Amino acid sequence: MLLWEWFRPPRAVLTLFIALMSVCALALGWLGWQVLVQDQMVEVQRRQERLENAADRAMATMEQTLSGADAVVTVAANGETQVTPAGRLAYTPSQPAPPAVAADLFAEAESLEFLRHDFGKAAAAYSRLAESAAPKIRAEALLRLGRALRREGKYQKALEAYTSLEKFGSTPVAGMPASLVARAARCSTLHESGDTAVVEREAAALWTELTLAKWNITKPTLETYLSDLRELAPKLALPAGWDERVALSEAAEWAFHQPKASGRVGLLVNQRATSVSWERQSGGWSARLISASTWESLWKKLEQDGGIVLSVVNQEGVVLHGRASTPGPAALRAAAITGLPWSITATSASANQPSQSWTARRRLLVAGLAVFAIVLGLGTLLIARALSREIAVARLQSDFVSAVSHEFRTPLTSIRQLAEMLARGRMETDHHKQRAYDLILGESDRLRRLVESLLDFGRMQARQYKYRTESLEAVEWSRSVAEEFRETVRGRGYVIDFTAPAQGAWTIQGDREALGGALWNLLDNAVKYSPDEHNVHVAVSAANGQVNVSVRDHGPGIPREDLKRVFARFYRGANAKKQGTKGTGIGLAIVKEIVEAHGGTVRARSEIGQGSEFTMVLPCHES
Ligand code: ADP
Repeated sequence: MLLWEWFRPPRAVLTLFIALMSVCALALGWLGWQVLVQDQMVEVQRRQERLENAADRAMATMEQTLSGADAVVTVAANGETQVTPAGRLAYTPSQPAPPAVAADLFAEAESLEFLRHDFGKAAAAYSRLAESAAPKIRAEALLRLGRALRREGKYQKALEAYTSLEKFGSTPVAGMPASLVARAARCSTLHESGDTAVVEREAAALWTELTLAKWNITKPTLETYLSDLRELAPKLALPAGWDERVALSEAAEWAFHQPKASGRVGLLVNQRATSVSWERQSGGWSARLISASTWESLWKKLEQDGGIVLSVVNQEGVVLHGRASTPGPAALRAAAITGLPWSITATSASANQPSQSWTARRRLLVAGLAVFAIVLGLGTLLIARALSREIAVARLQSDFVSAVSHEFRTPLTSIRQLAEMLARGRMETDHHKQRAYDLILGESDRLRRLVESLLDFGRMQARQYKYRTESLEAVEWSRSVAEEFRETVRGRGYVIDFTAPAQGAWTIQGDREALGGALWNLLDNAVKYSPDEHNVHVAVSAANGQVNVSVRDHGPGIPREDLKRVFARFYRGANAKKQGTKGTGIGLAIVKEIVEAHGGTVRARSEIGQGSEFTMVLPCHES
């Protein structure tokens, strides 16, 4: 079919409709796409908002954590240090300055000890000083007494001196708590005296107390004592959580040496995040410390709460928690702006997975659009089919009008010519005249049949056809129609043979004229469409309470696609059009109508090159 034919009426309506529907479908698709894109944008925005909220929450929680502390260290103006809770640090940033003791007080005894190596006299001198009224002089003297006795080899007495010194508790001696100095000295003395069993026990006890931070001492002091003790008892082990306490101590020490009066920083100690906030006021110093494990558990908790992933990075770019690079959307809180010790970045735990609600919404939207598209598509298809059927019927009707006109014109032309010849006296012999009368009769009969079949068809379509029911003997009725038809076509060389069982007698209840007309139509077609094969068979048989009246020809047959539609109104097969066979396309539709009105059916069988067979199947009674 040429393209431009689609734009000519009546097909233009169909074209217009399909174009309109295509525009609608395209608009729908575009709209759907836009909605999806918009929805995705809203989802991205929402996800960003969620991250911003999570980052703010994390910031607030960190701020709150910073206002508390795992350990508080205060250093008074005189260097006295206090740790709360006690023992939370491994060592303190400072220790009290040793009290000034008159240097010349021990000069004589020390010269006896160091210059003359007279340890006995030196010990005696120290013993006298150990009875001084001032506790700090007593303590210093006892320390020196122990030393002189050791050098003299009087270990037992030296141990006794140290035991007395131990009772001075935290009184500073040689810049350190007396009890610590005394116990350490006892260990060395026992070691020197070769009392291995006791030395190990005493060393272990001192080790435990040192690692529990019984005394507020600085890192070098602690390290010296610990290494001394390790030499005495190599199996000594550090307690659990030591590293963290060392880290806190380190942070405190670092802050203590800062020139700034106050500050709040995050430090990386042993690759872990520790924070310290310090303040210097009227000679004193205090610091609040938060351990790495507190920070780490806080970040983990924050992540669990909000379904987010936190990345914590210090100013040098070291990642303290989470990942260095964050794929997908993220909310950053930079340390430089927030004043927090670290920069934090919140990312979604499921960065590339859309939220469930969005997935559900999108599914619903896509399903809705799909249903709408299917309905639109199906609707378009159905309407287009109905329209194209109507167009086909309209075309068939117009074909029908021209076919009917042709059908009328041929007999009318013949009648007119014959009548004119008769009127002008051109028919000279009686034989010629008789022949002309016969032809006029035949042609007018054809016209009558045509008019009647058109009228019947009209009435049948309007359901106004009135059937006159009577009892018909099937064989007798069909034989009479076949014989009448045979007479009509005899002159054209057609042979109509009739077969029916001799003993068969079946009664049909029906309209003789209508059924006769139907059989006539079948016979007429058999003759019309078999121009070269002149044998037509009419056969009557009965089975299962039905009588079959069939008409068979040996014509060229009906193509398969035509065979399905030959009973449709106005339908004319390809063979009819090709051969230029006259017809209106309503013959078989009338046959079907009549047979069905009698409670029967009509069947068509055909094979190309073999001919066709049409059978009317009618209900009957055997009589
Ligand atoms: P018409 O004969 O006026 O065209 P019909 O309704 O009687 O209309 O037949 C419809 C079509 O069926 C015909 O156009 C023809 O193509 C086909 N047809 C009917 N009978 C035969 C037959 N006996 N042999 C071949 N084709 C037939």
